[in-house]
Amino acid sequence: MADHYDVIIIGAGPAGYVCAIRCAQLGLKTACIDNWINPQGKKSLGGTCLNVGCIPSKALLQSSQYYELAQQGLEQHGIKVSSVELDLAAMMQRKEKVVAELTAGIGALFKANKVTSITGRGRLLADKKVEVLNNKHKIIVSAENIIIASGSSSVELAIAPLTENLIVDSTGALAFDSVPEKIGVIGAGVIGLELGSVWRRLGSQVTVLEAQDVFLPVADQQVARDAKRLYKKQGLDIRLNARLLNTQISSVKNKQQVEVSYEDEKGEQKIIFDKLIVAVGRKPNTDNVFDSEADLILDERGFIHVNDQCETSQPGVYAIGDVVRGPMLAHKGSEEGMMVAELIVGKYAAINYDLIPAVIYTHPEIAWVGKTEQQLKAAGENYQVGTFPFVASGRAKAAGETAGMVKILSHSETDRILGVHIIGSHASELIAQAVIAMELGASAEDISLTVFAHPSLAEAVHEAALAVDNRAIHIMQKKH
Ligand code: FAD
Ligand code: AMP
Repeated sequence: MADHYDVIIIGAGPAGYVCAIRCAQLGLKTACIDNWINPQGKKSLGGTCLNVGCIPSKALLQSSQYYELAQQGLEQHGIKVSSVELDLAAMMQRKEKVVAELTAGIGALFKANKVTSITGRGRLLADKKVEVLNNKHKIIVSAENIIIASGSSSVELAIAPLTENLIVDSTGALAFDSVPEKIGVIGAGVIGLELGSVWRRLGSQVTVLEAQDVFLPVADQQVARDAKRLYKKQGLDIRLNARLLNTQISSVKNKQQVEVSYEDEKGEQKIIFDKLIVAVGRKPNTDNVFDSEADLILDERGFIHVNDQCETSQPGVYAIGDVVRGPMLAHKGSEEGMMVAELIVGKYAAINYDLIPAVIYTHPEIAWVGKTEQQLKAAGENYQVGTFPFVASGRAKAAGETAGMVKILSHSETDRILGVHIIGSHASELIAQAVIAMELGASAEDISLTVFAHPSLAEAVHEAALAVDNRAIHIMQKKH
């Protein structure tokens, strides 16, 4: 007879593994099926995020940031470094160690919480049965509740087919074994900008080709303008309105290169790179995850169709994370995982999809929550704005991290905060206080009446809140 569980989760990424742990904490007999195999041929839990996503990219962003700092950022502090050398192999090994420790940690958490970890490819059949295929060995398991958390994969372009070590996706770009002289990045989205930044800091000449004519359309455009200027200053060559037309591998003096043609307002352009990173987005993993008998519906964009509670069209079958609508972010998937676990045991749970923070881990970082100014304008909302530049922050000055600003948008009549946008050092950490404030329905005045430690970067959030009412202290404000 098939092993029967209260809950079976397909996928052990940040959506699936968090869901599994929470289900087990709630006393449910839980199994989590995952098929991720690392380059060493070993099972590795944690999905995209831990293996080839958030974690390895942040490891390399940190290391490359230190490398750049050691080369040119320490003199302002009176520190002279005579020779800085890059040991890329050691940097990569460190990244791999971070990944290995964290992925092993998920295994330990599964054990401690008594989650049964099943290795193999899961496929949902009818009647909440799941077929698991592992090296031609097949088993069937079943459960009262099924949760699909199969995640997403990089979108591939037929005109830029992945070609070993030349045309790569984000996974390939996290593992170059030498610093390429010239790198092309297709797509100025979050992943393209982060990976482009890593290699630029390590010495590559990086050109980013972006089809759209607006830079970072999802971000507040005031922040996006600042970001573009700062990236340009750093040497990142971002070309907007540049649509990829074709790629071709050429060989010059035994060296393989990628010839790229793209179209911009002046017509067809050609450029040659040593490596091309394709970062044009991600698509939900729905192939072979469920049988037609499982009777699930895909939405118009190919995601598994779910409601706000992550319920699919079939009772007792849920889907969470990148495989369903909403931002493709690890924390969004994890929250959905926790929500579904609570719902299964009959508790109340909900997610405020309006308040999911977004971060771009370039330097400076960009982070935001809520509405952008352009969204408020388009909706005809009455809003007021308070901004505060880090150049006026004592802590930012002391740290030598003066780029960027905090911007708070609040409703003109109620003063309720509608959006917070930060570009600056540690924006990923600073945004958390804005999320909490907005989750609690705070007004800009509430933040302005809160005491912030001095000196801290967070004081810029305080000052931006004061600025909404024209009473920021450390910048000139309009007279009342
Ligand atoms: P995944 O993490 O993709 O996990 C799905 C798991 O399911 C995988 O292990 C997969 O092998 C397994 N699976 C799929 N199908 C089956 C099957 N049929 N049977 C068994 N197992 C199966 N997000 C952030 O929030 N912050 C960041 O800084 C960030 N940085 C990123 C950087 C990069 C380079 C990339 C590529 C992504 C980044 N993301 C980031 C996005 C983040 O990684 C994803 O949003 C997140 O991993 C989605 O989680 P998930 O659990 O839905 O899916
Ligand atoms: P994201 O959706 O954040 O992952 O970003 C992907 C980016 O790639 C988007 O800004 C797209 O506009 C861009 N993009 C997609 N296809 C192409 C293409 N063929 N040429 C250039 N940019 C592209």
